[in-house]
Amino acid sequence: KKYYRQRPVRPEQYNWSKHYPAHFNEDGTSKDGRMVEFADIGCGYGGLLVGLSPVFPDKLMLGMEIRLKVEEYVEKRIQTLRAQNKSKGVDEAESYQNISVIRMNAMKFIPNFFQKGQLSKIFFLFPDPHFKKRKHKARIVTSTLLAEYAYVLRPGGIVYTVTDVRDLHEWMVKHLDEHPLFERMSEAETSMDPCVPCVMQDTEEGKKVARNQGDKFLAVYRRIEVQEDM
Ligand code: SAM
Repeated sequence: KKYYRQRPVRPEQYNWSKHYPAHFNEDGTSKDGRMVEFADIGCGYGGLLVGLSPVFPDKLMLGMEIRLKVEEYVEKRIQTLRAQNKSKGVDEAESYQNISVIRMNAMKFIPNFFQKGQLSKIFFLFPDPHFKKRKHKARIVTSTLLAEYAYVLRPGGIVYTVTDVRDLHEWMVKHLDEHPLFERMSEAETSMDPCVPCVMQDTEEGKKVARNQGDKFLAVYRRIEVQEDM
């Protein structure tokens, strides 16, 4: 059986052992039945992964980043954290074995990496705004792409969006509102969600916006269950 390091034709073909050696054997078989459940799309320098890792020690999380240098930086960052914590002999909750990064164009290859209903959370944190109208189709949230995100998200799964650009916030809310498979979560619900402080504060872009005292707009949506899912 052949495995591909990058861009598998089907998700089952991908060997995750280089990403999560504590959870996968070298031949790609799982050690504990865990699969990637959280996807951070356009993860940048990896602040969210590092922040969430100890909060959800039993969930595997993957950052997706299109820029090679940035992906390499995050990979080194995770290796360093793993090595430091191994030498200290800390427990699983702080071992950083549950986070990894991959270089890929998330607008093209999401269904190559994840099976139907595999993910429980998808994060879009400070995505590129593509301000000009003729560039709007390059935005990471569009009707077409939402159909793919809905496919890989399980019913009950959650999409988090944060941006400092009001126009982009309104764009993401409009497209998610219009999509039949997503419903917006209330402020009461999101205020109790342990991911929310991380998505607002932990990313490098989020920290920059805070330093400049900019606004941060949050919208959280649940992937609803429909007849076809059952
Ligand atoms: N989420 C991070 C944060 O909050 O610090 C990074 C935000 S940065 C403004 C947007 C990131 O998305 C950049 O690192 C960019 O390279 C990445 N990106 C843009 N388009 C992408 C795509 N199609 N697939 C994967 N990553 C992408």
